[in-house]
Order: sequence, then structure tokens, then C-alpha cells
Amino acid sequence: MRVAGGGPRKKPTRAQAHRVSSRTVRVSGPIRDPSIRAAEEDAGNAKLNPDAAALLAWYDRHRRVLPWRAAPGETPHPYRVWLSEIMLQQTTVKAVGPYYVRFLKRFPTVERLAAAPLDDVLKAWAGLGYYARGRNLHACARAVVAQHGGKFPDTEEGLQKLPGIGPYTAAAIAAIAFDRPAVAVDGNVERVIARLCAIDEPLSAAKPRIREVAARMTPSRRPGDFAQAMMDLGATICTPKQPACILCPWNEACAALRHGDPETFPHKAPKAERPLRRGAAFVAVRADGFLLVRTRPEKGLLGGMTEVPTTAWHQNFCDSHEALDDAPRLAPRRNGWHETKWRRIPGVVTHTFTHFPLELTVYVATVPAGARAPAAMRWVALRDLHGEALPNVMRKVVAHALDPARTRPAS
Ligand code: SF4
Repeated sequence: MRVAGGGPRKKPTRAQAHRVSSRTVRVSGPIRDPSIRAAEEDAGNAKLNPDAAALLAWYDRHRRVLPWRAAPGETPHPYRVWLSEIMLQQTTVKAVGPYYVRFLKRFPTVERLAAAPLDDVLKAWAGLGYYARGRNLHACARAVVAQHGGKFPDTEEGLQKLPGIGPYTAAAIAAIAFDRPAVAVDGNVERVIARLCAIDEPLSAAKPRIREVAARMTPSRRPGDFAQAMMDLGATICTPKQPACILCPWNEACAALRHGDPETFPHKAPKAERPLRRGAAFVAVRADGFLLVRTRPEKGLLGGMTEVPTTAWHQNFCDSHEALDDAPRLAPRRNGWHETKWRRIPGVVTHTFTHFPLELTVYVATVPAGARAPAAMRWVALRDLHGEALPNVMRKVVAHALDPARTRPAS
């Protein structure tokens, strides 16, 4: 599912718009017991099904210009739609934009992507996170070329048989690329519907109901535009904070606005605990300008990506006892190990993965030009590091280690 994202707006400000809208559009009457709001709406509010035509008319005037989106009158390009949808999984529109443009330049067609080595694809993907998506992207391109002659299937069922395409992504591609009446419910759409219907259940429990409402609302005419209009409405008007209700084409139909508390929807379930994991990372720099790296296992977190050697990451990691036991041993000659002097860099590197936050202490060592890499590790020239499939957390580690302000000896 895509993450919800906001978009730039000018006048009026969100705060103004929300204040004004709450005053001017609210339907008179007492605020009722929240537990019965949804039932009341279901029971026959004539405006429960907001008018698709009103949203499409709004979309025709205010649609976002996005690098992967076909201009009005243009036929959408399935490869571009698919690429953008995979990139947008768990990543914001703003973050994806530059990656998408670079990636498309490098791999302009599904055939070119399928023919590229996986490593090249992962390098181009580096920085977008969730690297399983990069690997699936490559596998999917190969499947489209090998099994479908380079043409994406045009149904949800057909799309879901491809690697890395789940129900949401299949629906989004089917709707946007092929104008199918598929129901694509991302975070933006969930928020819009939860507010329109003032759904009181926590979002996790409300998903089936939201989907049902979304299916009922989807028109048979221009379903692809409708899907994108819903996404745009959530991203630019019905934003998580201070929705600009006065500008919303559905403000008269919105139950949450009538009750004066749109921002409180969708309700969230209490967050699950995500205990901090800790570990240490080792940045070995050869005197002739090379950095010691290794490739992570194909399966699992950051699978197939490049990293500097690290300890395991776990909750009970104890820096002073465990760290240097796992430091790589470097051999300058055939006749023995180089006595590597590891220096702890002040501060820590922090990074947040979906399921846990991570804190890494960083050790640095400078080793002679002839030092040989331990088994399963390799040297990469520092000048070529930008071309490695280095995930963000490792970019932070290297930057932290090589920051002259941190590595300068104390005077
Ligand atoms: S759908 Fe969102 S933006 Fe529109 S009126 Fe309701 S809360 Fe406001």
C-alpha cells in the first residue's frame, strides 16, 4: 500500500480552510454519540455516496502533475504506471520523484530492465529502501518479458500472478493503466473514506468496510481517473492534518466534517511496541582509498544489498563486551593477520526500519594498502561507492565514520 502524502497548497492556508469549512459547511444539529455515527450514515444519509462526477470534475481542474502520470488525453503507459506503483509502496511521492526519473532514464522499457543484471537494478534502487521490492521488480520485468511478450496483463488477476504485485498494486495498475473499475485503496483513500463516513473503528478493523465503500463509489465511467482523483484528494486536500475542507468537492457529503472533527479520522489502534536493536559497524579504509564491504544474504532484511561488516543487531547488544569480537580480521600478507587497530567514533548512527529502530556504534580502522579482504568480503574504491547498492543505513554509517569532524584526533 502506498503511504499517504501531502502536497503543497497555497491560499487559503490549511488552518484557515479548516476553520472556515468547519463553520460554513457543517450541518446544524447536536454532535451525536460517536458509536452510532457510522450506523446512521449507513442507514440512509442520502449523501453517503458522494458524487463521483463532482470528484472527477475537481480532478480535471486540480490533478497533480506527476512524472509517471499520463497527461490529459494521453494513454497511460503500463510500464511507467507499474514502476511508479512499486516505487510508491511504503515511500512518498516526493521521495520517489527523482528516483523514478533516474530509473526510467536508465531502464526506459521493461525489456531493458529485464535484460539488466540484478546488481545494476539494485544499485539504481539503492536509497528507496525495502530492497525486496527491487529484487521483485527485476523478477517481475523478466516474467513480463518471458511470459507475456513484454506486455503487462490488463486485469487484476493477471497482474497478481507477477512477482511483487499484491492486491493493492494490481488494482492500482489495472485502474490507472487500463481504466478497469478496480478498487485501489491506499492510505490516502482510507483517510478520505474514513472521514466521509466518520468510521469510528480503528483503521486496522475498518479496512474491509472502507474497501466496500470504495467499491460502491467507483464509477464505471473513467474508473482510472476516479482512482487517481481519490489519491489526489487525500494527498492534497484531505490531508492527515488540517484538511482543506472548504476546497473539497465532497464537503457537503462528509460526515466527519459535519461532526466537526475530521482530523481525528481515521482512528488508530495503539502502536505495537518496537524494541530498539543495537549493534556495531566496522569501517575499514585501506591506505590506497578502498573500503571493506560485503553483500548481505539474498533473503531477509536489505537482502542482496552492500554493507560494511557489522555485528548482529539485537536488543541486548553490549558494545563494550561484544563489538570487537566480530570485527573483521585483515591480512596484509600470506603469513599472518594484520593487527587492526579499531577506533570507536563518538556518537551513534540511528535508523528506523518498519519493524524496529536501530542504533549502531561505529568503529574505524585504517589498514595498509596491501591488506587482503577476509572471506566473503571485498574492497570497493571510495570513489566508486556511490555506485554500490548501499542502503541508507549504511550510507549513514560510512558518512559518520568518515566525517572529519568526528575522526579528528582530540587536541
Ligand atoms: S473528505 Fe476530507 S477534505 Fe473532504 S470534507 Fe471530509 S474531511 Fe474535509
